[in-house]
Amino acid sequence: MSEPSIFTRILEGEIPSEIIAQTDRVFAIRDIAPRAPLHLLVIPKSAQYRDVVELAAGDPSLMAEMVALAQQLADEHADGDFRLIFNRGAGAGQTVFHVHAHVLGGGLTEGSLGD
Ligand code: AMP
Repeated sequence: MSEPSIFTRILEGEIPSEIIAQTDRVFAIRDIAPRAPLHLLVIPKSAQYRDVVELAAGDPSLMAEMVALAQQLADEHADGDFRLIFNRGAGAGQTVFHVHAHVLGGGLTEGSLGD
């Protein structure tokens, strides 16, 4: 069996981080290294899916739930607009192989796609 992911360890309280919102299946935390005025991570509670491609194929409704929570958080913590990023694979910068969405908002540079 593989080690629990860092996000599972946060969910289980082994690593300190404030869970700022949750549903039955999804939770959200602040990214420890923010790259925008608002930088949250929306994460399924289950570590079953390693990346967005597995998630979309395996449970589209869970992915929809993540998108809905991203909108709710952008409404609560910014002006409602946000950028949603899934890194898929180490070559694209994925470091945690427990699928998660980056929610970026609160004053993004117009027209910019990345950092
Ligand atoms: P990715 O590179 O797409 O896999 O994203 C992983 C993200 O997790 C990075 O943006 C990290 O800054 C973030 N991260 C890693 N450890 C923690 C932590 N303990 N609490 C919050 N965010 C974290």
